Amino acid sequence: MMKITFFSAQPYDKKYFTHANQDYGYQLIFHESRLEPATVELARGSDAVCAFVNDDIGEVTIEAMKAMSIPIIALRCAGYNNVNLRVADQLGIHIVRVPSYSPYAVAEHTVALMLSLNRKIHRAYSRVRDGNFSLQGLTGFDMYGKTVGIIGTGRIGSIVLDILHGFGCKLLAYDTQPNDALEKKEVTYLPMDKLLSEVDILSFHCPLTPETFHLINDDALAKMKDGVMIINTSRGAIVDTSSAIQGLKSGKIAYLGLDVYEQEGDLFFHDLSDTIIRDDVFERLLTFPNVLVTGHQGFFTAEALTNIAMTTLDNLSCYDLGKKLVNTVHSDSSFFVTKHES
Ligand code: NAD
Repeated sequence: MMKITFFSAQPYDKKYFTHANQDYGYQLIFHESRLEPATVELARGSDAVCAFVNDDIGEVTIEAMKAMSIPIIALRCAGYNNVNLRVADQLGIHIVRVPSYSPYAVAEHTVALMLSLNRKIHRAYSRVRDGNFSLQGLTGFDMYGKTVGIIGTGRIGSIVLDILHGFGCKLLAYDTQPNDALEKKEVTYLPMDKLLSEVDILSFHCPLTPETFHLINDDALAKMKDGVMIINTSRGAIVDTSSAIQGLKSGKIAYLGLDVYEQEGDLFFHDLSDTIIRDDVFERLLTFPNVLVTGHQGFFTAEALTNIAMTTLDNLSCYDLGKKLVNTVHSDSSFFVTKHES
């Protein structure tokens, strides 16, 4: 029976994986700790490791797994920017992932951030509970007719475009591999600089790569209209947080919605409400009334969790049964290394 050690496991991981495992009967060991060089030893004796977005799957972790003869890491997520694929390939460690589990979940959360920021739902919620029914400061804008730019028009980005089409927005896009089918749906692809100069709302749906790292920086902000809305549900390091803070202070950015944050690994997915958060940049972000941060919950729907558990166990069973691995990633897929090595 395959023994699989989970890292960064939360109660919901246990629930959905235990249910999906009824079809497989594997031995599942859940650890709350993040996978990193200091914790990888917990996997000793396992046949596979199951990891998540903020685990450190760099050179040291992978070498330790090799030394323990663990041949495969199953990512229970789509992104793999936290894995040193070059080292994994060199050492013959397989990396499998869940390329798509519910693009609707992330796309809908993206639009939830847009609408909440626009109509100031986060502020209205607190006001009404405090008996304050003043509308002062809660002015929004019609989504109808606004220009939205989507960076990355793959599975998630194209659904965001579909939803915003329903609102009557003008749709612009940038992708290194444009999708012809979207152009038939009134989406106009533009070069990045031109898109930046035209958008009222900008949303990221591309992977984190060397090309997209700090795509939003001082230079990019200088090209944008004053009062822009920026939404990032992709990966934190696409936005240079220091530049974003300057943009918020100057009024260049009038709305910032983040489901991801470049240093989220030390914060997200944990209850830190009893502790002092020492990340001053993050704390500064939270002081702005026009910033809305969620803790990487874009994927977090029942449908997505079910699909993640089923696909992850299926990936591992393919390996177990000697079948072809379809959801693998290799070093030619990305050259980005984990932040601990960069
Ligand atoms: P996808 O692979 O279907 O689409 C990504 C698109 O980005 C592709 O069309 C690709 O051509 C494009 N792209 C690649 N490099 C680019 C660049 N330099 N500039 C512009 N476009 C580029 O991926 P997806 O399933 O739509 O997911 C998109 C991203 O969303 C993932 O990479 C991941 O980081 C993020 N994500 C976040 C959550 C969450 O919970 N917040 C969940 C899942 C995925």
